[in-house]
Amino acid sequence: MALDKKLIVGNWKMNLDTHEASLYLHKLAGLVKVRRDVEVVLAPTILSLQSLSLQVERRQFKLAVQNLYWRDSGPFTGEVSATQLRGVVDYAIIGHSERRHIFHETDKDVRNKVQAALRNGIKPILCIGETASERTYGETKDVIHDQLIGGLANTTSEELSDITIAYEPVWAIGTGKNASPTDVTDAVLAIRSQVKHLYGATAAKAMRVLYGGSVTADSAGGYLSLDSVDGLLVGGASLDAYMFSEIIKKAHKGSDS
Ligand code: PEP
Repeated sequence: MALDKKLIVGNWKMNLDTHEASLYLHKLAGLVKVRRDVEVVLAPTILSLQSLSLQVERRQFKLAVQNLYWRDSGPFTGEVSATQLRGVVDYAIIGHSERRHIFHETDKDVRNKVQAALRNGIKPILCIGETASERTYGETKDVIHDQLIGGLANTTSEELSDITIAYEPVWAIGTGKNASPTDVTDAVLAIRSQVKHLYGATAAKAMRVLYGGSVTADSAGGYLSLDSVDGLLVGGASLDAYMFSEIIKKAHKGSDS
């Protein structure tokens, strides 16, 4: 494990309108205690970020944007920049598989977004992971290698401490299929070994690596008990405040949860 603090991220994707998001936050706040060993991050749609940022108790929850554009300003109709998000969010999910596969984001786009987030004081959560066919052909480690190199090129070792990697096998996202603990351990070790190669052992050890892919309140504890895993990126199960609070409780080591 890289750090003592677990990170639990709820990615709401394109769900919950602003009113529903506010009600959800109110409900979750009543279910989750502030814990020193757990950091909880909520990623609503961009529309709800501003209002949630006024409502949220930042000791309890941080906010993340699900995507951003890498230029700071200019003629980019429909986009939102890291400069505009500065002060509203602490984190940015970058390179989610839905962005890569539906919106054809390339490693170059991902890398530019990582840099944009960092230069605006926003911590990137860089998502990487193989598709079902890449897995079938035994290419998981190659994909991890390529997406890490692609996403982290231009990142310095000082900046690396602000980056979290989320290992999200594409075949496990929103499918109800879980990666086995062995799959996750192998992938996370491959990530750390690649980071060690690029930035050295200390950086590799200190880097936060999450697992994401159809995590539920039932499966969360198993992943969180893996030594190499520092937290979870949760999609579907984060849409239910009670279920998400149960996942968050699993990340707390104390007996009073
Ligand atoms: C995700 O959105 O990154 C994700 C892992 O979704 P789900 O938990 O629904 O598979």
